Amino acid sequence: MNIIIAGGDGFCGWPTALYLSKQGHDVSIIDNMARRKWDDELKSNSITPIADLKERVEKWKELTGKEIRTYEGDLNHYDFLKEVLRQESPDAFVHFAEQRSAPYSMIDREHAIFTQVNNVVGTLNVLYGIKEMVPDCHLIKLGTMGEYGTPNIPIEEGYLEVEHKGRKDVLPYPKQPGSFYHLSKVHDSHNIMFTCKVWGIRATDLNQGVVYGLDTEETQMDPVLANRLDYDGVFGTALNRFIIQSTVGHDLTVYGKGGQTRGFLNIQDTVRCIEIAAENPADKGEFRVFNQFTEEFSVLDLANKVQKVAKEEGFDTDVAHLDNPRVELEDHFFHAENTKLRDLGLEPHLLTDEVIRNILKTAMAHKDRVIEENVLPSVSWK
Ligand code: NAD
Repeated sequence: MNIIIAGGDGFCGWPTALYLSKQGHDVSIIDNMARRKWDDELKSNSITPIADLKERVEKWKELTGKEIRTYEGDLNHYDFLKEVLRQESPDAFVHFAEQRSAPYSMIDREHAIFTQVNNVVGTLNVLYGIKEMVPDCHLIKLGTMGEYGTPNIPIEEGYLEVEHKGRKDVLPYPKQPGSFYHLSKVHDSHNIMFTCKVWGIRATDLNQGVVYGLDTEETQMDPVLANRLDYDGVFGTALNRFIIQSTVGHDLTVYGKGGQTRGFLNIQDTVRCIEIAAENPADKGEFRVFNQFTEEFSVLDLANKVQKVAKEEGFDTDVAHLDNPRVELEDHFFHAENTKLRDLGLEPHLLTDEVIRNILKTAMAHKDRVIEENVLPSVSWK
């Protein structure tokens, strides 16, 4: 298949591009390098040194003989996007290319507006581009489990059967997102669902959990292929952030009680889920939703797991309960369905001590790159 990976220079997109290329797909990347610029803005960095995109794809070609074409540009520039779609004529368009940090979206008015314009307009352009240029192309869009919030009933995969005043219907599952970033994803989902209905677009919305890890078989082939690993209070996600904190002697920063429970998955499962979605496309006009995570953990569970492994590796760290900068429930019911990707063949890589140890070893090798002032949360929701 010809597959475009938008956001292919990022944490999920880069390993996905390599993996799909290795499986024999004809892969190209769109990215505007915005993520690298946000690091400059926040005076932050990836703990792993990352080569620029051109060097990355040249090394991939040298090692495997496979070409990944790159298009540097912004999804918000419609003429650019249309030209890429014309040249590539993709069978699948994998859309990772958004501003994905909840804290970044909550910095101030400008960052909230930037996040929603970048994400919502970018996705609208992709929808128009597919309609005008490649109407049969399957859109595989990264959403997030955070779209659902934490309702007091189990979370279904996209839709809920409801009985009301004696009548029944299957309706989109209610969304209760917790930041302007998560809201942008909900707006995207609505726009995609609408265009599936009115234009017959085929789309899969992948409501992804929090991704941990950094390596896949492909990114480990050479240091130039290394993936980024975020640890700062703005872009670092739970687990990866805790592991890095433990290697620099920082307390593990649990926000509030730590009972916040979420779905998680290994980056190795992210790449496989995209392959599964691409190889089993949605029907024309279908808005298909998969919950893309493999296990549920509370933030405190994760901190305790990291503390134990870090101790075995000689790092004594404490778990610190900080005032929660977010507005969220800290003690709540959480259970979400996640059978659809498994039914299509996903075999999860579960979170073991060994997995934590491996990420910890990578973090140890680069711990001199950690900028300690960036570790604590700096953005408040209020
Ligand atoms: P990332 O920031 O590492 O990668 C996103 C990439 O998209 C970056 O390389 C960035 O430069 C590019 N980009 C952003 N806006 C763009 C635009 N307008 N035009 C072109 N390129 C643009 O993020 P990630 O962690 O790889 O996440 C990828 C996707 O998966 C996001 O949509 C995110 O919301 C979703 N997701 C991620 C996680 C996670 O834990 N990382 C969890 C759930 C969902």
